[in-house]
Amino acid sequence: MLQHKEHEVLRTCVLCRKQSDKTLLHRFVLKENGVAEDEKKVFNGRGVYLCEVCFKADPFTTSTKLYQRIVRKKKL
Ligand SMILES: [Zn+2]
Repeated sequence: MLQHKEHEVLRTCVLCRKQSDKTLLHRFVLKENGVAEDEKKVFNGRGVYLCEVCFKADPFTTSTKLYQRIVRKKKL
């Protein structure tokens, strides 16, 4: 039997624009004190997704870029 992937939700990595299954991505949201990873995917608010590659690349650069992306999104 073929398995249907009806529940697969694709999200785009905010940095490299690669699409992946939502469950494989790291979700980050903007908190009062900066950008935090939403590990349990329970935080409200605007979130961005990051792929495994970008997540592991450079934590400092990544969090800075994420912050800029989220802030820019908010202003739209
Ligand atoms: Zn990426």
